[in-house]
Amino acid sequence: MKKFYVSTAIIYVNALPHVGHAYELIATDTIARYKRMTGYDVFFLTGTDENSLNAERKARSLGLPTQEYVDSMVDTIKETWHKLNISYDEFIRTTEERHKRACQEFFTRAYNKGDVYPGTYEGWYCVSCEAFYRPEELVDECCPVHRKKPEWLTEKNYFFALSRYQDRLLQHIEAHPEFIQPETRRNEVLSFIRSGLQDFSISRSSMRWGIPVPIDPSQVLYVWFDALINYVSGIDWLTAPAKFQRYWPADIHIVGKDITRFHCIYWPAMLMAADLPLPRQVFGHGFVYLKGERMSKSLGTGVDPGAVVDEFGADSLRYYLLREVPFGRDGDFTWEGFVQRHNSDLANDLGNLLNRTVSMVNRYFGGSVPAPDSAEPRPALDAELIAQIEATFATVETSMNSLAFSDALVAIWEFVSRANKYVEESAPWVLAKTDRQRLATALYNLVEALRLIAYAVYPFIPGTAEKMADQLGITLDIGKDWHDTHVWGGYKPGTAVISKPVPLFPKKELTD
Ligand SMILES: [Zn+2]
Repeated sequence: MKKFYVSTAIIYVNALPHVGHAYELIATDTIARYKRMTGYDVFFLTGTDENSLNAERKARSLGLPTQEYVDSMVDTIKETWHKLNISYDEFIRTTEERHKRACQEFFTRAYNKGDVYPGTYEGWYCVSCEAFYRPEELVDECCPVHRKKPEWLTEKNYFFALSRYQDRLLQHIEAHPEFIQPETRRNEVLSFIRSGLQDFSISRSSMRWGIPVPIDPSQVLYVWFDALINYVSGIDWLTAPAKFQRYWPADIHIVGKDITRFHCIYWPAMLMAADLPLPRQVFGHGFVYLKGERMSKSLGTGVDPGAVVDEFGADSLRYYLLREVPFGRDGDFTWEGFVQRHNSDLANDLGNLLNRTVSMVNRYFGGSVPAPDSAEPRPALDAELIAQIEATFATVETSMNSLAFSDALVAIWEFVSRANKYVEESAPWVLAKTDRQRLATALYNLVEALRLIAYAVYPFIPGTAEKMADQLGITLDIGKDWHDTHVWGGYKPGTAVISKPVPLFPKKELTD
């Protein structure tokens, strides 16, 4: 079985996750589920970045020990991911022992190579980003992300000799077009490298909360030389070498566009210094804006994903974000658009198709799905339906290979519309009086279409796929015999559907 290792960025613990975070987790979960469904041995890693100044400050402001504070935040974050049906295989916390050991080993390897040296750093520093900014990167003298005034910091610490890796990085990126996606991110990174790489500071003397530098315990490792290493500590680089061998290098790191650069420059250079292979791809996705404004708690425009799920269910949010925002670009979250997608695409198009089909099987065949007429050739109407679902799976495959979730969903919903049209065209209520055999075939075809739709939507809206299967009287075989399960004709005639169909998505009205 081929392996597939996919990761999200690890998130800070000083604030609750917002829809922007949820977006990244949902997208990565969709990739992981699609790969599992199509026969890969998937490892999906997510986690939390806990060794930050922000966490320490927030804990202090609440009068809590830092560890106690981060533990409680991790519980809340995991709860939110659980609500969203995020199927991660491992949750790495940067306060774990295995992570500390991995970071210290990275430092030691780089130090022994002469790639780490002591120096003095000074510059504009945004506490929220935990990053230094060059003066030309500031907007109105403020951090471009947080719009707050940065602090001027000077201190003695350790540097990583990034400049030494400039040529090797350029060569690698030029030789591997798939390494950075989408194309716009790749071009940004290339021009950044060509403008000249500067060594960067990897430790702090001013912080106590963090991972001690092995050769100088008065310092702790700083941000990127800690956080990035989660991608190897999370698959037990030093603690389970066989597991590491199995999954490393990562197939895709999914990250926000604001941190793509660190993943495409710092991280590969660090891996080169540690003599480890590079990830196959870094994908920098765009941001989700709430009516044009970035959704972030610090800007006060956050939408709590947990609250959205309580009201609408996880799949409405998953569907909306994946359908509405082409992955890689920025997009808007609007409540009007969200409710509209919920009602029209989910409740009407998909929900009604299931509901009316199951109802008709009950009405005309006592709830037992009839066998179709096997006479060849098939009527044109049936042949067209079957050809379209085959084409849909092909489009889904192509789209998923380039992480074009939106394109995949458009194709699936075109098929859902086609199936709804099939109901009108075959008119089972007329056939019930005129042609029982044709009625049996038409209803079998609709049930089979729904079975295949359940597989097609599974990676995107897994809870709904399971509910559909339930009402159709089947279970989805995820990860087993993909080539057999997604071809036409898999539904066994004689299977009983649920006697009273349950709406998949109760309709909602926009209230405020
Ligand atoms: Zn900032």
